[in-house]
Amino acid sequence: MSTDSSHSGTKPTVIIVGGGIIGCSAAYELSKAGFACTLIEKGALNQEASIAAAGMLGAQSETHRPGPYYELCRLSQQLYRAWTDELEQVSGLTAQYVAEGIIRAALTEEDEAELRGRLSWIQDAEWVQPAEMLKLEPELTAAVHGGLYLPADHHVHPVWLAKTLQAAIARQGCTIREWTPVIRLLTEPGSGRIRGVQTSEGPLYADLVVLATGAWSPALTESLGLSLPMFPVKGQCISLKTEAPLIRSTVFTKGCYVVPKRDGSYIVGATQTEAGFDKRPIARVIGELHAKAAALLPRLADAEFVSTWAGLRPGTRDALPFLGTWDAAPGLIFATGHYRNGILLAPATARIVAELAQGRPTSADLAPFTPARAAADTAA
Ligand code: FAD
Repeated sequence: MSTDSSHSGTKPTVIIVGGGIIGCSAAYELSKAGFACTLIEKGALNQEASIAAAGMLGAQSETHRPGPYYELCRLSQQLYRAWTDELEQVSGLTAQYVAEGIIRAALTEEDEAELRGRLSWIQDAEWVQPAEMLKLEPELTAAVHGGLYLPADHHVHPVWLAKTLQAAIARQGCTIREWTPVIRLLTEPGSGRIRGVQTSEGPLYADLVVLATGAWSPALTESLGLSLPMFPVKGQCISLKTEAPLIRSTVFTKGCYVVPKRDGSYIVGATQTEAGFDKRPIARVIGELHAKAAALLPRLADAEFVSTWAGLRPGTRDALPFLGTWDAAPGLIFATGHYRNGILLAPATARIVAELAQGRPTSADLAPFTPARAAADTAA
């Protein structure tokens, strides 16, 4: 392995650690901004959380209060269509963007009260009465109490988004090193400045390093004395098919959603458990998830079973990502901890990483997402 960045000529160099959606998106944006990028992945690109996702761009359906996180989700949602159009042009592939919204259905009074409460601050949302909802989606259970219609919460197919991004970054000339675990970050003695990474094949140096290692991120920050409060949150999903389409919108209720994909399949998700790095789908859990989906859309009881899988969301204690820089480790950009919304947040994250790398003002206020909040926890 080359131990310096001289291959890049006069371009500034960046190493992106982690080849999920976040790392690939950052690599694309940084390459476009004129950086010589090397993307390093311990396995193959996009084999972890990013292809386990359902692909909902749920800025409205996934946030529970107004504030900076909601604003970040909205920003990314607004960037999405143009971003995937551009990636599709560069790659010649499709991310399977579907411009249909989400119905956030209430099945209990408690759920109804919670959803109605969101109407005071959420944009692009309307309350739909049960009869009207059944007109929108006639296959829904008649037990529905009504719900929110969120027309801006579109979706993509994560597997196809991953293929599109991978092809796009290859076309941009990004160097991709798969099957190359990063063992630790390399710091300059004294200043703490990040100079590169130690990989299984030797050291590699660059002007900047981006940390995009999802649920595995704490392993790389420990040696900096920073204990990131992150943990894997296992999510299990099923793919089903029916002979005729059942729904146009994504239908989402507490603990279960059904996302109709362009190929005629549905992604049914997702469970949520903290089980370490165990990614095995469990038959009982998958059975329960299917039962919930069939309670929401009764005709799914007899759907064709296509497949099942599980992935590890990069969870954080306060459910906010770590996005930004940290004074104690100049040269390092954090882009991790996207928990339930990393697919949605990919374009905004990539844009912000490129802005930070160029020393420009960022498109969002990063104070709530600062890695320094973990440093305060570490010190406590
Ligand atoms: P990952 O995809 O996990 O990528 C991290 C990469 O870093 C991995 O490839 C890993 O191998 C690599 N890595 C780690 N350590 C090292 C190292 N030391 N050296 C080199 N490489 C390393 N989000 C949405 O927006 N919408 C959804 O509908 C949605 N649904 C979901 C459903 C499920 C079941 C799950 C599990 C997640 C869902 N998410 C959804 C969340 C989303 O998938 C994640 O937030 C997102 O994929 C995180 O991307 P990432 O690139 O940070 O992580």
